[in-house]
Amino acid sequence: QLSNRLMRVAHHVPAGAVVADIGSDHAYLPCYLVLNGIAEKAIAGEVVQGPYDSARNQVIQEQLTGQIEVRLASGLGAVQPQDGVTVVTIAGMGGPLIRTILEQGKERLAGVERLVLQPNVHARSIREWAVENGWSIVNEEILKENEKIYEILILEQTDKTKELSPEELLMGPVLMKEFSAVFQEKWTKECAQWKKIISSMESAEETPELAEKKQELSGKVKLVEEVLKNEN
Ligand code: SAM
Repeated sequence: QLSNRLMRVAHHVPAGAVVADIGSDHAYLPCYLVLNGIAEKAIAGEVVQGPYDSARNQVIQEQLTGQIEVRLASGLGAVQPQDGVTVVTIAGMGGPLIRTILEQGKERLAGVERLVLQPNVHARSIREWAVENGWSIVNEEILKENEKIYEILILEQTDKTKELSPEELLMGPVLMKEFSAVFQEKWTKECAQWKKIISSMESAEETPELAEKKQELSGKVKLVEEVLKNEN
């Protein structure tokens, strides 16, 4: 049984997809997708030997070696043009690492129709990458599991990239519109955290770096509070 987080990632993979799951660890996601007839075939990519071994064992145990290939490679290095991958999933890592994987493997995304990305933190870096690289955010989701809040971003290639406002980059264009209870909880908590940091900075000796950091945090607090207030 998949975690709800991975179940929600799976929900955004269309039927008949050829999937590459990067940073697959135990390969639960590709196994689920193939076992449930969603993915035709899949590649599970892992850069670390331990998780690679556990992915291989899982695929063997599920008797899916005919449909799932486990590859030891960094990022999109696991994907070859002849694989015909249509969907790339990357889940359970920080946004900046997901961004680096996409940026370093850009040329391998040529035939890929959809990216389903689940950053644990800093989703903004992925949204910035999307805008800079001709991918548009077609959907987003936010969910809470075991007291942690996760975001899922669904990207598709477009000819015309839509510019995003600073608040859309930070909080997500779809999630902002949806304005769910979990979304409000996430940003209320983030704001409180930033305010705590700002007030702890008040007692420290003022340096140019500190002043800059304080200004950046205050800017984010203002931005987020404005969004939370507007929709209420
Ligand atoms: N995707 C699974 C999930 O969401 O439950 C596993 C997440 S696990 C926390 C992150 C995995 O990404 C680790 O197994 C790690 O070895 C792998 N990883 C980190 N950097 C990677 C890279 N550049 N290429 C491939 N895998 C990577």
